[in-house]
Amino acid sequence: MNIRVGQGVDIHQLIEGRDFWLGGILIPHHKGALGHSDADVLIHAICDAILGAANLGDIGVHFPDTDSKFKGIDSKILLRHVTDLIKSKGWKIGNVDSTLILEKPKIKPHIAAMQEILAPLMDIEVDAVSIKATTNEKMGYVGREEGILAFASVLIYK
Ligand code: MG
Repeated sequence: MNIRVGQGVDIHQLIEGRDFWLGGILIPHHKGALGHSDADVLIHAICDAILGAANLGDIGVHFPDTDSKFKGIDSKILLRHVTDLIKSKGWKIGNVDSTLILEKPKIKPHIAAMQEILAPLMDIEVDAVSIKATTNEKMGYVGREEGILAFASVLIYK
């Protein structure tokens, strides 16, 4: 069996008055991530991990933020596209492990809903989608609630 791993990282600003899309769901919060698309950092990190594993570049290559057709786009569409792209090359996704770093709000109550949304977009079981979260212990821009980071690792195989 041919097995590869990939990693993805994404960072976005958090600002007042934006919807907070994260892990494919809308999280009630007074701030949301700023970006050309819906700015879903978790999905973006996962997309980059999948693309990296298959050595197919990154989401900036496939979905440039200079292209108006991606303005405000639902990142779930991007993840489905990335899954279909690697499947067309014969790859399947094995599992995803991810970590979010943000100060607020608490993510734990939303993890199950995120797993339910994300798993079918990658044609994997819910159990194969790990989502973890930690704070930045009030330090730096994450600690000041000015930004959010996401990290993802993905295994693919054929
Ligand atoms: Mg992004």
